[in-house]
Order: sequence, then C-alpha cells, then structure tokens
Amino acid sequence: MSSTDVAWVAIGSNLGRRGLALARLREALTADGVRIERVSSEILTRPFGVAAQPDFHNQLLVLRSPVPWTPQHWLDHAKGAEAAAGRRQTYHWGPRVADADIILLGVHGEIRVDEPGLTVPHPGLHERPYLRRLLDELGAKEAEHPSQRR
Ligand code: ADP
Ligand code: MG
Repeated sequence: MSSTDVAWVAIGSNLGRRGLALARLREALTADGVRIERVSSEILTRPFGVAAQPDFHNQLLVLRSPVPWTPQHWLDHAKGAEAAAGRRQTYHWGPRVADADIILLGVHGEIRVDEPGLTVPHPGLHERPYLRRLLDELGAKEAEHPSQRR
C-alpha cells in the first residue's frame, strides 16, 4: 500500500456548536506531529442524503504527517480526531458533531484506495459540488476529476 505524508481531509459538523466542533477537529488532527498546511474557508452546506437535519459547517484541510503514513493510518488518525471532538455513533448520512473524511491522498491526490473500509478519492466527491469548490480553493487543480482519470 502506498504511503504519503499529505492528506486532504474534509471536516464537518451539524450538531451543537458547529464552529467549535470544527476547531476541536482541527486541534485533534494536529496530534502525532501532523501539521495543517492549508485551510479552506468554512462553509454552510445542506445535509446530503437525509435532508431533515440541520445544515453542516464544512471545511477542507491539507495535512502533512512527519513521516509518510499508509492510507489506513490516515483513516485511523481521522477517526481518532472525530472521537476527540466528541463524535458518538450515528447512522450513515445522519447528523453528527464531528466528521472527518479523507478526500484525497498524496500531494496531487494521486493515491487510490479501494478497500471495504476505505475508498480514496472519497466517493462523495462527485455528488458534492462544494467539495470540488473547496479543493479548487486550496489549489488542487492538478487533482481535478480524479475518478475520470482511472
Ligand atoms: P459518512 O460517509 O456519512 O461520512 P461515516 O463518517 O460514519 O459516514 O463513515 C463511515 C465509514 O466510511 C467509516 O467508518 C470508514 O471506514 C468508511 N470510509 C470509506 N472511505 C472513507 C474515506 N475516504 N474517508 C473516511 N471514511 C471512509
Ligand atoms: Mg465520515
């Protein structure tokens, strides 16, 4: 499995103090020597899939680990941050205090993963135009439409 020190991570919250939850996620994502290299604007989005719930606050981050990590290690890091920011078990597409998803891996989003517990680029990329916009904002032009380059 290809390791990388760069991950594009989308964070989100639609319960409680959503801005505070994003701040907690950013803080927790800096565990283990990880640096936040780029931060997108914080945007409000309509919930995807299950509409009867509050809007999400969403933000995209570019993270860099001190040494290259495997995709699974990046997923564990994201899940650890969700827990630290107060996430409890919820259902798919349901409301959550803290969500951290791996959108792309690698400087140019070049790493692909297709495993039962991890798909990168994130499958939601094609259904959520705001993710595309946030990627553009952080200069991910070179990672444009990764699904179409397979
Ligand atoms: P949602 O898809 O609504 O974000 P969850 O946050 O509950 O749902 O994630 C459900 C599962 O999706 C995670 O436990 C994880 O194993 C899996 N998953 C697959 N690909 C990814 C990815 N790129 N980033 C984060 N989680 C992923
Ligand atoms: Mg998630």
